[in-house]
Amino acid sequence: MTQEHISLSDLAQLTTHVSTFLSKELNVGLGDVVAVYSRNSIWYPVAMLSAVRIGAMACPISPDYTADELMHGLNLARPKVIFTSVELINGAQAAAEKLGVPRRRRRVDASSDPFETNSIQDVAAIGKTYCPEDQALVYRVPSAKTNHSVCAVLCFSSGTTGLPKAVMISHANIIAQCLQIQQITPVDHDKILAALPYNHITGIIHQLHLPILLQANVYILPKFNFEDMLRIVMENKIKELLTVPPILVRLVQQPHIVAKYNLSHLRRFSTGAAPLPNEILKRLEQQFPQTGFKQAYGMTESTSAICSHPPTKYAYKYGSKVGMIVASTEVKIVDPGTGQICGVGEAGEIWVRGPQVVMGYLDNQEATADTIDQAGFLHTGDIGNVDEEGFLSITDRIKEMIKVKGVGVAPAEIENFLLGHPAVQDCAVCGISDERAGERPKAFVVMANSSLNPVVTAEKLLAFSKKESSREKAIKEIAIVTAIPKSPSGKTLRRELNKLQQERILAV
Ligand code: AMP
Repeated sequence: MTQEHISLSDLAQLTTHVSTFLSKELNVGLGDVVAVYSRNSIWYPVAMLSAVRIGAMACPISPDYTADELMHGLNLARPKVIFTSVELINGAQAAAEKLGVPRRRRRVDASSDPFETNSIQDVAAIGKTYCPEDQALVYRVPSAKTNHSVCAVLCFSSGTTGLPKAVMISHANIIAQCLQIQQITPVDHDKILAALPYNHITGIIHQLHLPILLQANVYILPKFNFEDMLRIVMENKIKELLTVPPILVRLVQQPHIVAKYNLSHLRRFSTGAAPLPNEILKRLEQQFPQTGFKQAYGMTESTSAICSHPPTKYAYKYGSKVGMIVASTEVKIVDPGTGQICGVGEAGEIWVRGPQVVMGYLDNQEATADTIDQAGFLHTGDIGNVDEEGFLSITDRIKEMIKVKGVGVAPAEIENFLLGHPAVQDCAVCGISDERAGERPKAFVVMANSSLNPVVTAEKLLAFSKKESSREKAIKEIAIVTAIPKSPSGKTLRRELNKLQQERILAV
């Protein structure tokens, strides 16, 4: 913890100055992209909101990306400016050079660094010279545009299939989602823990925009650390612990660590982003009998929540049910085979329509049309059912995405990575369950050269994946197979993979 802090009025003023700088000095405006490649910090919201303020698209990028993943993200988003931090500047520098982002357009959040870039405070000071009266540089939506048609944030998601895509989230999506969440938030939600990364939609809504609407204090963790999180929750008497399932797993599996911290003030655990095993929920209830529990379900393409437990209804008895549909939102459960609407309790694909359903994918009309139909329904790729009380349960996933520690991983990305290795002739990747991470990737590989020792080669591939991929994308297990099952059109039949005869090699 750096103990740095900024107030809401500081945030407004800094944002005015930094956005003025972006506009006047770098000619950033409507439709331009400003990337934010940094760990969580108090400057993160300043960078994001400064871009959004002048009609540009803020594009948060995971600080855990490897160089190749960063390049892929930057190639998709084509930023005009990159905000980064000192610890990440080498990677940002290399990627920016390849991409042709001129040096003077890269700004960092510390006051000095070997690359002589400016801190965000320096940038704000330059911006301030344009508005000495501290008057806001008010962005006006061009007359043909509305809040619905101006993209505010670009977030990466693999969607239902293929490689990560940049999801376009409008100003109206963010406003709607914050109001939807506010309606089901207890009035005394005045201290918010920001332990989840700001580059995920949960961070953007629950840790950045919602606190502004609620005028709540935000306690920011630069990088997730279990004990730091517990300490901050204890010291600041934070009433709601916003987490993802792997953090709740650690709470129940490491009671000796948890016992060091007095969490008696905690009113509820809040989780989402990935399935939570019922067993964990039961153990949580035993360990924290006084604390409630809330679950939410949503995706990047729905600007976060589709469902959530309302404050009056949260309780363990709802188990794996992910809550009730948030305001102004319609949910249809559709039989994926027949396209018929399912009845109460019957499982089908979850389709969603509401003001939080995003604009689509940047420069990818095909993927947009495959995901959001002409009537405006988002096809989530999740299977679930709604009970008589209106609670939704998620029972399966028909899309390809693997959820590792709540982070969406695209199998296609890992497959491309493996196909780049000379030992791999063909491959397919799917998720397998993992006690700590929820799921992790498993690769089915057809070796290119049968004369090599396939087991040794598979072990080398595992080591290669661990070294060259970001943590979430590292392969847990490789199965050596003779062929990958494909449809007549050449599409991998992922659901057939685990039925294959396989020699399994596990990562250490
Ligand atoms: P992302 O876009 O990374 O937020 O991923 C969205 C996906 O995460 C959803 O489509 C679901 O597959 C999964 N997901 C989100 N919340 C939950 C939840 N509460 N329970 C089960 N799966 C979830």
